Amino acid sequence: RPRVLSGIQPTSGSFHLGNYLGAVRQWSALQETHDAFYMVVDLHAITIPKDPQELRDNTRLAAAQLLASGLDPDRCTVFVQSHVPEHTQLSWIMECLTGFGEASRMTQFKDKSSKQGADRTSVGLFTYPVLQIADILLYQANQVPVGEDQRQHVELTRDLALRFNGRYGATFTVPEPYILKETAKIYDLQDPAIKMSKSASTPKGIINLLDEPKVSAKKIKSAVTDTDTVIRFDEDKKPGISNLLTIYSTLTGTGIAELEQKYDGKGYGALKTELSEIVGEWVAPFRARTQEYLADPAALDAVLAKGAEKARAVASETLALAYDRVGFLPAA
Ligand code: ATP
Ligand code: MG
Repeated sequence: RPRVLSGIQPTSGSFHLGNYLGAVRQWSALQETHDAFYMVVDLHAITIPKDPQELRDNTRLAAAQLLASGLDPDRCTVFVQSHVPEHTQLSWIMECLTGFGEASRMTQFKDKSSKQGADRTSVGLFTYPVLQIADILLYQANQVPVGEDQRQHVELTRDLALRFNGRYGATFTVPEPYILKETAKIYDLQDPAIKMSKSASTPKGIINLLDEPKVSAKKIKSAVTDTDTVIRFDEDKKPGISNLLTIYSTLTGTGIAELEQKYDGKGYGALKTELSEIVGEWVAPFRARTQEYLADPAALDAVLAKGAEKARAVASETLALAYDRVGFLPAA
């Protein structure tokens, strides 16, 4: 079975629709066909300051949402990144192989750091793509299912895998990004030029999966569209409407052309009202399942402990190989 690996940050409480449609939905599909590793990336989350208790709570909450999304711990490995120390250990080796210039070209770093100013930007935010390289290579992943915003980081991972293999001999699998075109980028409802984001979207721009259906309905109804009235998929001229159509289409499995026909001659209001209902119906059982998993933290922690054990078995083997290739003297 080919292997996949991916992760999600416990940055804020709820996953949003971009996380789900862009990534997590593919994760549950891939567990059927692949040897799948999915993690809550708490090490990545502290690149921006986090309250310790909130981080702990959000890590469990993220795990509960992964299970509520359909990840089955009997069919895939679900774990917490900090439970597997090999990630930070391999990361150091990768930092020493990554050019300062190439790391500086990561657009996500430029975006996130420009919002905070240089003095408040941590070195960890700068090196986070390198930790991500270690995350992926430790598991010898063939594919990395992510949203479009992560493509550049997976490309960097490929470059570094090739560089390490070239310098030290074949060691790492060179991974491919796995990005579905239709849902690669879900946009912010208030600003359809930027992606929906846990840390950057305004509350009105983001559809949280744990929002009350009333709340998400209100957000969808006030989504920014355009002054035209025709419901048509056109990402350049009608980014807001196209985004709503993408969400509608993927949640219901209806083709875009079919939706354009269905809403021919109808107004934006009708589309928004019906989409609100669809989202409401989708999130209600998701919220209920998440609450069930959260209600039993001991069981949740046991799932994560078992996941960490399975993950470490793979990660420690890869790390030992990498240490040997680099020339570290084995501890006697
Ligand atoms: P942050 O703003 O803190 O970086 P995020 O919203 O980007 O949070 P992550 O935890 O960084 O969420 O990403 C988890 C996964 O969701 C990644 O694979 C990422 O590519 C994907 N993803 C995030 N936002 C979107 C989006 N708007 N559309 C599609 N995929 C997305
Ligand atoms: Mg992100």
